[in-house]
Amino acid sequence: MIQRTLISVSAMEAKAVPISVTMDKRKYCITCGTLATQKALFRVMDATLIERYCDKCVTENI
Ligand SMILES: [Zn+2]
Repeated sequence: MIQRTLISVSAMEAKAVPISVTMDKRKYCITCGTLATQKALFRVMDATLIERYCDKCVTENI
């Protein structure tokens, strides 16, 4: 398991519903697949990792 350090968790701005699937710029929770509302930044080695969660999963995973 690679060590990762939580940098910050911030609320994401709500994106408007797209007019087509290919124009969908919204992000989805990596755990349950619903629309993501929280963005978590992690420090992993020399890189920054961004993971997106919904309100429910952010409390369970962070
Ligand atoms: Zn979720």
